[in-house]
Amino acid sequence: MTAQILNGNALAKSIRERLRVIIQAWSAQGHRPPGLAVILVGEDPASAVYVKGKRRDCAEVGVYSRALHLDADIGQAELEARIDELNDDPAIDGILVQSPLSPHHDEDRIIDRILPNKDVDGFHSYNIGRLALRRPTLRSCTPMGVMQMLDHIKTDYKGLHATIIGASNHVGRPMGLELLLAGVTVTTAHKFTKDTGEMARQADILISAVGKPGLVPGEWVKKGATVIDVGITRGDNNKLYGDVDFEAAKHRAAWITPVPGGVGPMTRVALLQNTMQAAANHMGIPWEAL
Ligand code: NAD
Repeated sequence: MTAQILNGNALAKSIRERLRVIIQAWSAQGHRPPGLAVILVGEDPASAVYVKGKRRDCAEVGVYSRALHLDADIGQAELEARIDELNDDPAIDGILVQSPLSPHHDEDRIIDRILPNKDVDGFHSYNIGRLALRRPTLRSCTPMGVMQMLDHIKTDYKGLHATIIGASNHVGRPMGLELLLAGVTVTTAHKFTKDTGEMARQADILISAVGKPGLVPGEWVKKGATVIDVGITRGDNNKLYGDVDFEAAKHRAAWITPVPGGVGPMTRVALLQNTMQAAANHMGIPWEAL
């Protein structure tokens, strides 16, 4: 068996194209464009690249974007005040704070300072709570992107078993909540799990979100499974690596995501979809989530 490739680049491109057409139609009706503000703190080069990519995506579909580049030593109170200004700004529908922040910042407080209806990263405790209670509003971008990939291959979720490796607030935990909502039985493994391989081998859907290249060998993949590799690690050679041994896993899986070109572009497009959702809510435009 050789797995079919879940091409995140192609899928995200088709979603962006649909968003572009919808924004054109909105502006023809006299609405302002959706607006996204991105806050970048400090000089982390990888963060700067991510912010640039997000703004490029915005430009492609017609979302207005604004970047605030703040000094690494900005105080907590001042950073919160900048968020308050954006919360009050009627041209801004979504606010994203690029992590990492500086060590002196309380990141949880920063995220919870964003109005939940502008929290387009879907990290606010209100939005995670809504997802936990099966009433999702703005959803965390990476799990939302993964669910769209699973939808794309028409996975009939109910009764399937998913194993998620990684239990972070931004990826592993909301991923589990999304899958539970879809009727999947979920096992979550993390750094204290005794036998992650044993959990992985049971999975119809195997998702790894750790950031350790080679963590998931091919023999952890159940025959016919769908393998979603969220992990991204930049090697010394500047190449990007996932967590999964792709070459071995592709001979056992039915579907597999590449790295790069798998989950990454789906995370980015989910941010645009959330910004559209937030804008539609703020402007009172009927919106069928894409
Ligand atoms: P994190 O460091 O916050 O969380 C890592 C998780 O992995 C933790 O829950 C930890 O318990 C678990 N873990 C660590 N070692 C483990 C082991 N040996 N076995 C099992 N579990 C283990 O990281 P994160 O923010 O969740 O990101 C995880 C990875 O996903 C990173 O490589 C990150 O770059 C990538 N990422 C990719 C996207 C994307 O769009 N593709 C988005 C977000 C994060």
